[in-house]
Amino acid sequence: MFTPAELLEINALLTPENKIVILTHYNPDGDAVGSSLGLKHYLKAKGIHAEVVVPNDFPKFLKWMPDAKKNIIAEYKRKYAFDLVNDADVIFCLDFNSPSRIGLVGEWLTNAKAKKILIDHHQQPEAFDYVYSDTVIPATSQMIYHFIEAMEDEKLVNQDIAECLYTGIMTDTGGFRFRSTSATTHRIIANLIEKGADPALITSNTWDTNTVSRLHLLALILGRIEVVCNERVAVLYLTREELKEYGFQKGDTEGFVNYGLSILGVKMAAFFMEDLYEDFIKISFRSKDDIDVNQFSRKYFNGGGHINAAGGKSYESLADTITTFKKKIEEDQL
Ligand code: 5GP
Ligand code: MN
Repeated sequence: MFTPAELLEINALLTPENKIVILTHYNPDGDAVGSSLGLKHYLKAKGIHAEVVVPNDFPKFLKWMPDAKKNIIAEYKRKYAFDLVNDADVIFCLDFNSPSRIGLVGEWLTNAKAKKILIDHHQQPEAFDYVYSDTVIPATSQMIYHFIEAMEDEKLVNQDIAECLYTGIMTDTGGFRFRSTSATTHRIIANLIEKGADPALITSNTWDTNTVSRLHLLALILGRIEVVCNERVAVLYLTREELKEYGFQKGDTEGFVNYGLSILGVKMAAFFMEDLYEDFIKISFRSKDDIDVNQFSRKYFNGGGHINAAGGKSYESLADTITTFKKKIEEDQL
């Protein structure tokens, strides 16, 4: 948590006169959108207006969250988003640890005059004016709850805040399953339910949203899943042609990599996907126990993230990327 002195300084910055922007990472996920909107609704409950800016669009299954449709998408409203970031007095940076993770907004953030406040749970954060980084907490949305507690504002938690933070925690813990899910996480979830978050409704709004095209894509990649490295590593992939053929929409492949990790004995899963428009391969890594995919992705695939969940990019062809990957896991004896 921020130190008591830092909290006093942050509190002094949170005034209705100050222009406040909340930023989150490229390809926003449930935790990115949930933590950003949770913080926005908390500030609103304090009488303070804030704008949420996201670098690019986010999946439809997150748009039911209160105010999600008011998020400013920088890719679509470039000038407006730039002005917000450039003119801001305070910028909250949520669920990312480096300006390189927020696409075109990164340069705006670096040059902005605002006080920059980081709240994030990824490994190896860069410098910001105020940093609350904790890589043991499973979701930035949980950290927003801790921030509200530290500000002694728990009484302000309302249904909007509760729904957003619940969604962020639920999605980033894979439905309260992943390793850093703690008793504290569940206590906070219990509080959020008491404040009006409805578990059945949130789960259904977020996860019972499959399209037929998504299920067909899933069937395709499950049909050819490969297990290598002494049955310890699962490999999945999708080509651009296939994405086009199945009418891919943003978010359609979310969670696919986890199927690889659900195979008995598998300790690491990698999902390689050709980008629909640009010439690179987007990679998702997931792992169990002490297999550190953050380090692995940093070392070989221009990426990073958490110990058990990371992403990266490759500029080789899909086939070459998968060959390189298989070589590296053998070399590193994963
Ligand atoms: P996903 O596989 O869901 O895209 O990402 C898994 C985790 O790794 C997320 O927490 C995400 O923020 C992080 N991540 C994904 N891609 C990158 C990347 O290129 N660089 C870094 N540093 N982190 C990434
Ligand atoms: Mn997160």
